[in-house]
Amino acid sequence: MHTMTPSSRWPAVPDTERRVLLELLVHGALPRVRIAERLSLSRTSLSRIARGLIEAGLIAEGESVPLGGRGRPAESLHLRHDAAHFAGVKLTAETMYLEVTDLRAQPVAEVAVPLRSREVPDVVTLIADSIRQTGVSDVVGIGIAVAGDVRSTAEGTVLRHSNFLGWDAVPLSGLVSEATGMPATVVNDVHALAGAHHWFGTDGSHRSMVVFGVGAGIGSGVVIDGMLHPGAHGRAGRVGHTRIGGQGRRCENGHLDCVHSFVTIPATEHNAGVGRGEYALALERARAGEETAVRAFQDAARALGAVVADAVNAFDPEAVAVMGEGVDMLDLAPGHVHQAMAEFLEQGDVEDVLVQRPLFTFGLYARGAAVAAMRELLSS
Ligand SMILES: [Zn+2]
Repeated sequence: MHTMTPSSRWPAVPDTERRVLLELLVHGALPRVRIAERLSLSRTSLSRIARGLIEAGLIAEGESVPLGGRGRPAESLHLRHDAAHFAGVKLTAETMYLEVTDLRAQPVAEVAVPLRSREVPDVVTLIADSIRQTGVSDVVGIGIAVAGDVRSTAEGTVLRHSNFLGWDAVPLSGLVSEATGMPATVVNDVHALAGAHHWFGTDGSHRSMVVFGVGAGIGSGVVIDGMLHPGAHGRAGRVGHTRIGGQGRRCENGHLDCVHSFVTIPATEHNAGVGRGEYALALERARAGEETAVRAFQDAARALGAVVADAVNAFDPEAVAVMGEGVDMLDLAPGHVHQAMAEFLEQGDVEDVLVQRPLFTFGLYARGAAVAAMRELLSS
């Protein structure tokens, strides 16, 4: 990971202090003794560090919590959630979604603005103006989520390619940083979703998981050993061109029978015989039992089952989370998901695969981008 330029509004925090903040960010309030254990710090060192962070206004002492239900209650520490705010942006081909969050990743402001132009300087200006217009003055970092390949370089995070925006090799983090005077980072949108879900959407009990985002496209983010793995080239979790038979919508690689041919919203619209942007109509027809629409969702379910099985074959995660605005096949054809998983799993039992469907709103992508900015600031 590269280092963001320091933020004038975020105090310079030495490494060990930063690790304490990161623990509190991920786990919420923690007893002092537990933090000391987790970071191999002496009680004395932790006291000194905690004092500094309390004076800097970043953490506070909480009420005593019983430790393991017995023995003496231990003093706990927690982050002051309002100590800083982060801006998260999700760019689609049509719209810029912005959420400003506190340190718990709770939104304090959100806005969606149509893109009047996809020219890079126009989008950068729109991002900068929109953040300013929220009126939140203590934003300390910006994350931008885009469907595309993202690579970390010495100059910052570079968006290598985005189909939806038609962008190639755009040094987006540097441009946004320049326009706002704040550190910025760019992240693949499904990686952002996976990172945010793992940090804030679960109780932290899963050390490994694969998160799928299904909508205009399909992507996945991989968490291994408690860490999001973007991959050596920012491409981890790129899935979807596995050939599964049948005939669906032609994908950008020319396939008629890959996962993309069936699973995405545009593919489902095409296969259900409705127009572009009429996903709701396809859904309505499938619910009413109209045959072509029913089959489109069954095919989407089969494609999802195949791609989930691929992920399980590759990573054997503790859980698979399926999120996004295009996951209705889970309701309409759960049997087809199950059947395809059984068909595509290399070995093992479908019943061993824990598939979750967390609550989803589109704003979670922007929130995930804010979390990526948080992660960058605290772990760089
Ligand atoms: Zn394909």
